[in-house]
Amino acid sequence: MRPRLNPVPAPELLQKPVVGVLLPLPLAGAYDYKLPAGCHAARGALVSAPLGNREVLGAVWGAAEGAVGDNRLKIAEPLEGAPSLPPKLCDFIDWVAEYTLNPPGAILAMALRSRGAFEPEARRIAYVRGTATPPRMSAGRARALEVAGDGLARSVTGLAEDANVSPAVVRGLIQAGALVPTELPEFLPYPAPDASFAAPSLNEDQAVAARALRDAAELRKFSAHLLDGVTGSGKTEVYFEAVAEALRQDKQVLILLPEIALTVQFLDRFAARFGVRPTEWHSDLSQKERRRAYRAVMRGEARVVVGARSSLFLPFPELGLVIVDEEHEQAFKQQDGAIYHARDMAVVRARIEDCPVILASATPSLESFVNATSGRYTHLRLSMRHGVAEMPQVKLIDLRHERDAPGVEHKAQWLSPPLRDALDKVLAAGEQAMLFLNRRGYAPLTLCEACGHKFTCPHCSAWLVEHKYKRRLACHQCGFELPMPSTCPQCSQTGTLIPCGPGVERVAEEFAAFFPAARYSIASSDILHGPAETQAAIRAFAKREIDVLIGTQIVAKGHHFPQLTLVGVVDADLGGSDGDLRARERTFQLLHQVSGRAGRAEKPGLVLLQTRNPQDAVMQALARGDRDGFYEQERGFREAAQSPPFGRLAALVISGYDGEAVRGIARVLGKAAPAARDVKVWGPTPAFYALLRGQTRERLLVQAARGVDVQAYLKAWLKLVKVPASVRVTVDVDPVSFF
Ligand code: ADP
Ligand code: ZN
Repeated sequence: MRPRLNPVPAPELLQKPVVGVLLPLPLAGAYDYKLPAGCHAARGALVSAPLGNREVLGAVWGAAEGAVGDNRLKIAEPLEGAPSLPPKLCDFIDWVAEYTLNPPGAILAMALRSRGAFEPEARRIAYVRGTATPPRMSAGRARALEVAGDGLARSVTGLAEDANVSPAVVRGLIQAGALVPTELPEFLPYPAPDASFAAPSLNEDQAVAARALRDAAELRKFSAHLLDGVTGSGKTEVYFEAVAEALRQDKQVLILLPEIALTVQFLDRFAARFGVRPTEWHSDLSQKERRRAYRAVMRGEARVVVGARSSLFLPFPELGLVIVDEEHEQAFKQQDGAIYHARDMAVVRARIEDCPVILASATPSLESFVNATSGRYTHLRLSMRHGVAEMPQVKLIDLRHERDAPGVEHKAQWLSPPLRDALDKVLAAGEQAMLFLNRRGYAPLTLCEACGHKFTCPHCSAWLVEHKYKRRLACHQCGFELPMPSTCPQCSQTGTLIPCGPGVERVAEEFAAFFPAARYSIASSDILHGPAETQAAIRAFAKREIDVLIGTQIVAKGHHFPQLTLVGVVDADLGGSDGDLRARERTFQLLHQVSGRAGRAEKPGLVLLQTRNPQDAVMQALARGDRDGFYEQERGFREAAQSPPFGRLAALVISGYDGEAVRGIARVLGKAAPAARDVKVWGPTPAFYALLRGQTRERLLVQAARGVDVQAYLKAWLKLVKVPASVRVTVDVDPVSFF
């Protein structure tokens, strides 16, 4: 990927009173507007532009197209006092739009996603000690004045609280002139991180990697680095050294994490190293917090931002380092709206900003692994855990043989005898264990024993998952819910419905039956077990208030639990057989990450993988600890199949409520696909979820050789077919999942 930058418009072009203004809407491109007389504006300047009968916030984008006569143009008013979008952000927006085949306005919308951030900052009123003495003095009044005597400005309630008086007492003092109003800025500034606050002493491996990254940050040029270190090797400590260097260089830093759930532990870790918490940016922030963060980034006051993928579009005026942690995570791919991969676009942003980018992972994506081993990225390896911790021992449990004998009184369904023995030992030793199953709820399928009826979602091609605590059946795709029925809706018999297969709740139930004295919790990203509850479970586990954590992939990543010595993977085969090109890579990454939670401190760790395919290459690589062997083999497969990164893919998803229309357009598109060298088009076929939230979905897949300009091909193709408003065609360049 090489950014094809739009030529930066010559300044004299923008001296003209007519300019192109990009609006944050999925429209074709920039529109011409007139600027008020005598006004000049550069690319990125924010304006308020009339559109129909409303005013829209937009950005001056470049020279006018000139198709409409000057006298018919409307006037765009520059926003008073607001900073401009940095020109490099504008270039980045153009690049992403071009690459993902989205209208630039749709990408600009992601960069302007903070309502009110451009309006003049609101002021808050606070009170300080005035000169007047109140005519009447009471004990409360005296106390309030004494507190106010320290000179700090406080709100009415703030002072009332500090002085332990009622707000009425404070108001009385204001009326008497003993307290006088003063104005404070709406937001307190973010304190600056201190690069030298608590620098760690690094081990030898770490020091080598840290030096390379520090040098890169000091050089202030584009460079890409894969920080490839085993779980527990201290990747965070190492890239913090690059952060420190960028701070010393007076540059801003962006750290991307795949999930909000991971930020909590991260913020504290950052504070331990740099003295203060970084600025957060993600969808859980309130409108006001977003406004505060956005402003601070735009004005260069926020020096380090930690955020989810959307933080990639923040208006950093002096970005000097981008870090993508757990870079292999699929969560970096945004699947709705404008579809883009935040990891790939992070590399692009760094290239445009001309600054280094660090991708960190213990299980890199195959793309990054190939880039690193071929020399496009520098490859920094940390092959040992920090301190005395060793890599855990990984053993396979062959579920075809390791089961309770048929006659056994208490027969387990999900926890094999060797796994239970290991749990026994760990609990007896007062250590902790984790049971992992990547499936939420109680049972993934409910079946009627009598007639074979399966409960499926009315809006999706998906089974309804039983949630036992909630006594409901739920669709994990659209959220549709049903109270747990007692009779079969098809044959009307009662007591014939049986749960099939396990989810975490069911594993927990079996665990509790075998280990009634053990303290355990379930952690899963669930409608029921929401983020707060999951955080609470993780915190309780870290504090050793519980012995066993039973969880989905939410517990697999990033967490550091020193007393955790056993990880049991209930079904290692899950997800391995769904046939898409990344299924093996994903299974390996996930199981390797889960395994990496075990034995991260003094005590050695053991990982038990329950499988029915112990000979499978993924299982064998995990058991042998042969990560690179697995990657080399996978690279071979991909190269032979000309799949990414050795070839290119793009998907078209055709969707809509009118199934016939969707299938019709899919067929027409399929037939219209232009013939081109080194390009193959597959489909249309029904998508994996052929029905999703009530919409029918069809897919077409473009497979092309590496050198092919896929965007040009797609553009030419899409021009050939007129799509009615009832059908949507979504372009997914470099798809990572095939649902
Ligand atoms: P990774 O991200 O590679 O899995 P972490 O960065 O989470 O590893 O490090 C694992 C643990 O080891 C953390 O608790 C971290 O604080 C600690 N650690 C790593 N390197 C050092 C160091 N040089 N000095 C002190 N503690 C370290
Ligand atoms: Zn559904």
